[in-house]
Amino acid sequence: MYARVIVDVAHSEVDKQFEYLCGDEVKVGCRVKVPFGGRVIDGFVVWLSEKSQYSPEKIKSIVSVFDEPPALVPECFSLMQSICERYRVPKAVALRLFLPSEMRTGKVRELFKKFVYLKNENVNLSKAAKKQAQAIDYIKEHDGCEYSYVCNLFGRTAINALLDKGAIAVVEKKVNRNPMQYGESESEKRVLTPAQQKALDEIERSDKTVQLIHGVTGSGKTEIYLNVIARQIERGKTAIFLVPEISLTPQMLAQLRERFKGKAAIIHSGLSAGERFDEWWRLRSGEAKIAIGARSAIFAPLENIGAIIIDEEHDSSYISESSPRYSTVEIAKMRAQYNGCKLVLGSATPSVESYIEASEGRYNLITLKERINKRPLPEIIISDMRREVKRGNNSCFSQALKHELEKTLIGGNQAIIFLNRRGYSQTVICQDCGYIAKCENCDVTLTYHSEDNCLKCHYCGTKYRMLSACPDCRGKHIRYSGTGTQRVVSDLKELYPAARIIRMDNDTVSGKDGHYKILKKFGSHEADILVGTQMIAKGHDFPSVTLVGILDADMSLHFSDYRSGERTFQLITQVSGRSGRANDKGKVVLQTYSPENYILRYAVNYDYDGFFKNEVEVRKATQFPPYSLICRVMVTGTDDKRALETLKTVYFAIEELRQNSPEEFIFFNKMHSPIKKIQGKVRYQVLMRLSTKKLLPKIYDIATEATTANTLVYVEENPVNLS
Ligand code: ADP
Ligand code: ZN
Repeated sequence: MYARVIVDVAHSEVDKQFEYLCGDEVKVGCRVKVPFGGRVIDGFVVWLSEKSQYSPEKIKSIVSVFDEPPALVPECFSLMQSICERYRVPKAVALRLFLPSEMRTGKVRELFKKFVYLKNENVNLSKAAKKQAQAIDYIKEHDGCEYSYVCNLFGRTAINALLDKGAIAVVEKKVNRNPMQYGESESEKRVLTPAQQKALDEIERSDKTVQLIHGVTGSGKTEIYLNVIARQIERGKTAIFLVPEISLTPQMLAQLRERFKGKAAIIHSGLSAGERFDEWWRLRSGEAKIAIGARSAIFAPLENIGAIIIDEEHDSSYISESSPRYSTVEIAKMRAQYNGCKLVLGSATPSVESYIEASEGRYNLITLKERINKRPLPEIIISDMRREVKRGNNSCFSQALKHELEKTLIGGNQAIIFLNRRGYSQTVICQDCGYIAKCENCDVTLTYHSEDNCLKCHYCGTKYRMLSACPDCRGKHIRYSGTGTQRVVSDLKELYPAARIIRMDNDTVSGKDGHYKILKKFGSHEADILVGTQMIAKGHDFPSVTLVGILDADMSLHFSDYRSGERTFQLITQVSGRSGRANDKGKVVLQTYSPENYILRYAVNYDYDGFFKNEVEVRKATQFPPYSLICRVMVTGTDDKRALETLKTVYFAIEELRQNSPEEFIFFNKMHSPIKKIQGKVRYQVLMRLSTKKLLPKIYDIATEATTANTLVYVEENPVNLS
């Protein structure tokens, strides 16, 4: 037999198939070791045939085969094709997505153990061989017991002697490092509410591939997902269930384990490499049928998929941050197409892109307007921080928030204080009138850069002088940094010395399961107040939280990003959704310097439709995504001169594209990135806004072409972060 092999080298020069001679044990999808350019390297078998197109003496043989069953399922090759076309990466890079990194690096292998079986009980044993006779009797009774165990009982010499005589056989078998502990009994199935039942039926009946569930926080979306999965499992199919990593809380994991027992493989960052590896094999071998995890679980080695579910579909963690910079929803669509199954997207605040798809009829839209048991959504109170400043209140908390905090603590309930301090960017805001500095060309917020004390637009690169007074009201209270979580905690301690407070942000969350620990502590009411950033916004279900304080709603509103309105709406809705989920009514206090802002108005009234209609108009009028595509080609490297050279090459190559199709370009420029240097690497960028995706493949190819050993060039589409 001849095997066509893709070698595991991420380079376009070897991005083709090579032929090797092989035996019957080699199957399509196997990982193999092959001789290549004087070395032996890893490869993937993509094709087998009886004949070769080369003369026999030119063909080398495969050195060894790894897997049984083959690691790559047939679908991988179809997806590989689509991924390579879409993101212009070498085939090896696409195939790597389908394997856990532990497997590729060979750091973790299957855990093998030896087991002993009876082969021939009638061998002649000398009278002196008492131990051997005892061992034979034992093995007769316990066929298939563990080798090391019988060695302990009867001595290794005796067991090996039996082995030599052919009385027993030792077989090596793979065993799992199983990270799950299953409950004993089947968990009770919940009775679905009529709204949940209706959603479930509609998903079943709809002829559209993509189903978008828009359900308010606490409307019971999770229960719908679990039922969609359960139905597919009953039909003998498999399923993928994706959630943002941060939502894989201990509660959520326990719920999934209880519901699906050993049928679920949960892949999350709290697992050891060995556990992750074994969970992966449980899916591949068919023992587990449901892959649950964050973004990368979309590549789970499942066949015959009956449903793919993406919870919190709007979440930015679904965009990959390294090559290929894929969109998980896009990959999920490819897999749904291949398997002929449904893709269920769910969110309380769907992304504008997805909602447009639904409102124009390409996705089926399912709406859940009420919380379970008709629990009311929490009331959102706005605190106008301009008035607080005028009244001389310079603390982080408005009067209203202090009042509500007191009530909550006295009532024995819990509170969450949310602070939107993110990244480097600092917005400039007038504390007297709420004025925000904006770019004259782009209608996005300017960002303060301390290194040259100026304001910059991240979309067109224009620089402005730093303000000394507000251009609108002449006020001198110009502020350009948010308050940190640490300051908030110390202020809280001063106000409520008896309260137990925990902080959750990038500084306090360390280690793989750092955030689990904090959430667990808060969940078991070992603290009264949780102070945190983005991390606490998502999916958590804490029944005794009745108050949420949002300290600086403005900060996300004025990020220099076309999505800042959308982000703010999402954030307020999500954070508010943590309040009042059980019996006690919830409240939210939202502090802002611009209470009249329309985004805040929509959020306070839970008016997604209003927000959406308005946002679509703005995006259309300003030609921002999805009515255009923002494309950034990043050039980074340690050598400034070479990076600059490369930037020029890239720029001129794209300029040529522009000359040929000027109608494709809305904006085009090259510049330093807002952060000029990260970890010793200079950063340049070519930034453009394109009217369609037509030129994307060419731009990807320009980037690949320009990449050298010194300088990395890569493409980002609608980057989440323009820093
Ligand atoms: P969402 O994901 O839409 O925010 P959840 O799935 O977390 O909502 O559900 C909110 C709460 O309602 C959870 O505490 C959940 O256990 C509960 N719940 C969901 N479905 C039902 C049901 N059919 N009957 C009773 N309680 C339910
Ligand atoms: Zn600008």
